[in-house]
Amino acid sequence: MPKEIRLAKFAGFCYGVKRAVETVKKLKLENPQREICVLGELIHNTQVIEELDKMGIKSIHTLPKKGSGVCVVRSHGESPEVFKQIEQAGFEVFDLTCPDVKKVQQQAIELAKENYYLVIVGKAQHPEVIAIKANALQYSSNVIVADTIEQIQPYANGLKTHKKIGVVVQTTQMISTLNEIVTYLTSLAKELRIANTICQSTSMRQSEAIELAKDSDLMIVVGSKKSANTTHLAEILKDITKTIHIETEKELDKYEELIEASQKISITAGASTPDNVIEKVIKKINGKGE
Ligand code: SF4
Repeated sequence: MPKEIRLAKFAGFCYGVKRAVETVKKLKLENPQREICVLGELIHNTQVIEELDKMGIKSIHTLPKKGSGVCVVRSHGESPEVFKQIEQAGFEVFDLTCPDVKKVQQQAIELAKENYYLVIVGKAQHPEVIAIKANALQYSSNVIVADTIEQIQPYANGLKTHKKIGVVVQTTQMISTLNEIVTYLTSLAKELRIANTICQSTSMRQSEAIELAKDSDLMIVVGSKKSANTTHLAEILKDITKTIHIETEKELDKYEELIEASQKISITAGASTPDNVIEKVIKKINGKGE
């Protein structure tokens, strides 16, 4: 019997990533003489980074003391301090922070200003979370980051005494993590204000993939292992059906037997995975399925 291979509708670039990649390319094409760099990697995808590099758009990982031309802030956003440093170094700032990330920063600022003890549900080391925290810290020192209850427990007394707790979420978090943390915080707070800031693109991608997984023998998640939304996607799906997380079609060789044994295979991909990478995966699986 031929295999059934399905591709998720919400696989690949989200609008924030698409906007960042298209805008930065357009900027270079319209200003070929200008030096353009991106602080950090614009997206978690080696091929796209290499393509930008060839166009003369360099990724820089530390800010030089002196610079010239344009410095792009990627979709994760940056702290107000970093914005200042970019300007002080002599660059013109080109801000490509995703509008959804800006909304989280704004909600975090509002909660901090209104004296809520702010809990940011997310990974402390993720650039998006670092920037959200830095924005909130301008208005209050009562700000913590956690993606497990254990990480909040050391602050339980302070949170209980403060009574007012506010919550925002990293845009690519899993709803189950938010739910667990909110349930725990309910036992500490007199007043709890929650801004569910998981972005629509992430929640649609996750919900669709969950439905596909329920009716698949194998889920294939395509995308960088450094990408938060991609790894979360694979984590969620592993609890539902057999799931593999690959960066490119080359990794499929490792799973040849598993693919052979699976009748219904569904494919989804993270927000920073280009269409051509997904297409190569489908092609290769189709080859195996023949
Ligand atoms: S995952 Fe969501 S928040 Fe992040 S860049 Fe894409 S649309 Fe924006």
